[in-house]
Amino acid sequence: MKNKAADSLQDLQYFGEFGGVNPSISDSSTYTFLSAKTMFDTFEVNTEGCYLYSRHSSPSNLYLGEALAALEGTESANVYASGMGAITSVILQLCDAGDHIVSSRTIYGGTYAFMKNFLKKFNIKTSFVDTTSIKAVEKAITEHTKMIYCEAVSNPLLEVADIEALAKLAKKHNLPLVVDNTFSPLTIAPAKLGADIIIHSLTKFINGTSDCVAGVVCGTADFCLSLKDVNSGAGMLLGSTLDSLRAASILKNMRTLHIRMKQHSANAFYLAKKFQEDGLTVSYPGLSNHPGHEVMTKQMNHEYGYGGLLTLNVGSLENANSLMELMQAKKLGYLAVSLGFYKTLFSAPGTSTSSEIPLEEQKEMGLSEGLIRFSIGLDNTIERTYQIMKECMMQLHILPEKTLQN
Ligand SMILES: *Cc1c(COP(=O)(O)O)cnc(C)c1O
Repeated sequence: MKNKAADSLQDLQYFGEFGGVNPSISDSSTYTFLSAKTMFDTFEVNTEGCYLYSRHSSPSNLYLGEALAALEGTESANVYASGMGAITSVILQLCDAGDHIVSSRTIYGGTYAFMKNFLKKFNIKTSFVDTTSIKAVEKAITEHTKMIYCEAVSNPLLEVADIEALAKLAKKHNLPLVVDNTFSPLTIAPAKLGADIIIHSLTKFINGTSDCVAGVVCGTADFCLSLKDVNSGAGMLLGSTLDSLRAASILKNMRTLHIRMKQHSANAFYLAKKFQEDGLTVSYPGLSNHPGHEVMTKQMNHEYGYGGLLTLNVGSLENANSLMELMQAKKLGYLAVSLGFYKTLFSAPGTSTSSEIPLEEQKEMGLSEGLIRFSIGLDNTIERTYQIMKECMMQLHILPEKTLQN
């Protein structure tokens, strides 16, 4: 039987210094050398098993990187102090001044702001296109294009990228396909579908305890080494280094990722179906009316379901705000950005995580004011959650009272 990602992760077995079942945490910023020559060599090329300085690499960060490479099925992976630390390192490593990026228009607000505003400093331009149209992506490619960028399942509209088709196009133009897989760890395996570089904000599902920010870049050994190069590596020089203590705690949390993803997905699917039956405007890749349903079904690992995110359009920002406040008061979750927590998190993306995107562009991409993004939690009795949510919606007249009976 072929190893699945979760099995490879399970097999990664490290011993601590005293035979502990967890690897020891490296509590040092700098490392000694027995000979001056080895230190010189380590600066010049990466000497196997030698550590120099913890911004470059540390045992704890390498363990976590190894686990993430196993998760995504890539040769290597580098961890960072945040998802944005990972994203910005990749972009600045691949692009020089005057270069061009073709990106999905429905991406994380911070990534969008970085590409649209910050990269002006380097005269790097981005064409934001509808990446569900391979034609539109191809049309946007110029002689200066250095990468194609998308999210496997996009934030916040849950647009599903056809990674196989995008990878084929990228190969044809000899460009790397960079995929942010934050919304769908284990569910989607972009590298297996042909993507070259996979990024995660570990802050979300992978860590799963909403207690830190962190990120990762998964790719070839060469690319990961280039990011660490002491002379020219964006990862090394921008300094977005993850602390060893955090790396160790994220690695421990990763051990339950497969179980959590199944529960997040099962709960989200249950609610999506119920909301749809109630006549609400719900968007979830598991529903057959979702524009990305077929692509998702084709490329997903079915045992993990369609993911833990769903959006609900409740018509107006007032409705959205009152509903979120009421749900929080009823202990259904938190009115908070981010995702992948044990508790349900909800926010109105138009006024929070996607507020970097101008109103007009928000409209164009279908991001309306009354939209609530839910990251569904690990609730034990989702039927109970649904009943309470429904009562909240009826109290606010988002749902008519008559549906109370069934
Ligand atoms: C949160 C998020 C990021 C940014 O990650 P940080 O850890 O907050 O820096 C990037 N992409 C997606 C899809 C996200 O949800």
